[in-house]
Amino acid sequence: MAASSPAIPLISDAQSAEERFLRQIFVRDQMAEWSKSPLIMAKADGVLYWDIHGKQYLDALSGIYVVSVGHNNRRVIDAMRQQLDVLHFSPPMHGTNPVAVRLANLLADVSPGDLNTVKFECGGAEVTEAAIKIARQYHKLTGHPGKYKILSRYQSWHGSTMGSLAASGLKSRKTVNEPLPAGFLHVFPPTCYRCPYGKAYDGGKCGITCANIMEQVIDMEDPETVAAIMVEPIGHTGGVIDPPDQYLPLLREYCDRHNVLLIFDEVITGAGRTGRMFAAETFGVTPDVICTGKGLSGGFVPISAMIVRKPIADTFWGPIETNPGFVEGHTNEGHPVACAAAIAVLQEILERDLCANARTQGARLRAGFERLAAKYRVIGDIRGKGLLQAVEFVTDPEKKTPFPKEVGFGVRVGKRALEKGLLCRFDPNWIAFGPPLVSTSEEIEEMVALLEGAMGDVLNEVR
Ligand code: PMP
Repeated sequence: MAASSPAIPLISDAQSAEERFLRQIFVRDQMAEWSKSPLIMAKADGVLYWDIHGKQYLDALSGIYVVSVGHNNRRVIDAMRQQLDVLHFSPPMHGTNPVAVRLANLLADVSPGDLNTVKFECGGAEVTEAAIKIARQYHKLTGHPGKYKILSRYQSWHGSTMGSLAASGLKSRKTVNEPLPAGFLHVFPPTCYRCPYGKAYDGGKCGITCANIMEQVIDMEDPETVAAIMVEPIGHTGGVIDPPDQYLPLLREYCDRHNVLLIFDEVITGAGRTGRMFAAETFGVTPDVICTGKGLSGGFVPISAMIVRKPIADTFWGPIETNPGFVEGHTNEGHPVACAAAIAVLQEILERDLCANARTQGARLRAGFERLAAKYRVIGDIRGKGLLQAVEFVTDPEKKTPFPKEVGFGVRVGKRALEKGLLCRFDPNWIAFGPPLVSTSEEIEEMVALLEGAMGDVLNEVR
């Protein structure tokens, strides 16, 4: 006889906040702090969220740069429903499925140059690790087995798993997990506003040291030991680090010169965010590998994809005795429902020309940030492209003086914005917006107005 189901413990008001959240390890904040005023989202539609208390939030962050085609997008939901009725899982070790094939072809069609071969993964960390692995295996297959080092940047973020973390450059997230895998090197990012080399850009008169230091490191390490450079075209975690025009073309040149693969981590910048399908096109540079994730599925279900140039993919094609193919796999890769969602998302982006909307609304957002900069004189820099933009807060724009650490200006503004019903990304010194690509002019203006209200409140407190 079947036993009656055990009582499921429910959230009870009698429990303390700490007790209530004891069973969920949270990813970002200290739980003790977060549980004092926990944010628990219950519902969403378009560019709006509602929490469990019915409070409404304007989503200027697409969740976390994921909800590209809006919450509750019926086309994506219908595509997933239809797929569920037909095939919800196919055996990944034996073959593939028609939706994965269709999505791979679609991704090849919308990718620049000869980036035409796709490997599906389930998230950002998986896809950046796959890129590291394909670079190393490519060199082994082509007679350069000693090329294994990965060159990336401080302040970057490529994921939480050990390999992607080793490539990342955030000490706050790395140190606690050390030692990390060997073979990863870092250089400073192209932070023009606060040049790590103490130079001024001035149209390139600085010599673009941030780029050519990469070639110097390759040279010093011995090019025969370097497999790949991996960068986010626009670095997010350092405060939306938008490189100077010459930067990515120079990386391309160095990679070509030293037989090093150029990997773009487009987990945030892909799927239309910078105003083109990939930031590779926004910057006019074709990498050897693109990693895309987040916005690809619009957040409906996890999926990511590694897109590889044909000559690299071709080296994995050969006799089984000498060539094992790409040795990497995950149980849920090419999941039919995830692929159906991603196809619908890409169709939305293409048919509604959401890249153009990202450019138009990105210009509106920039104008809004510029208005705030002129009015409040605490914005020193505005960075980013399309619907990925940030402002850096300073006490004096002329001198670029940051707010004292104890003020935590950006965090205070971000938290006040949340109280006012605006979700954005915040850090002690900067705030970033990455609203859904479907955002309208009115919604962008409202987001800027809410930010203005939050900035005004915090300025009244600190001045
Ligand atoms: N690359 C970049 C640029 C990211 O921003 C992130 C996540 N924020 C990742 C990789 C890792 O993605 P995931 O969290 O899906 O593993």
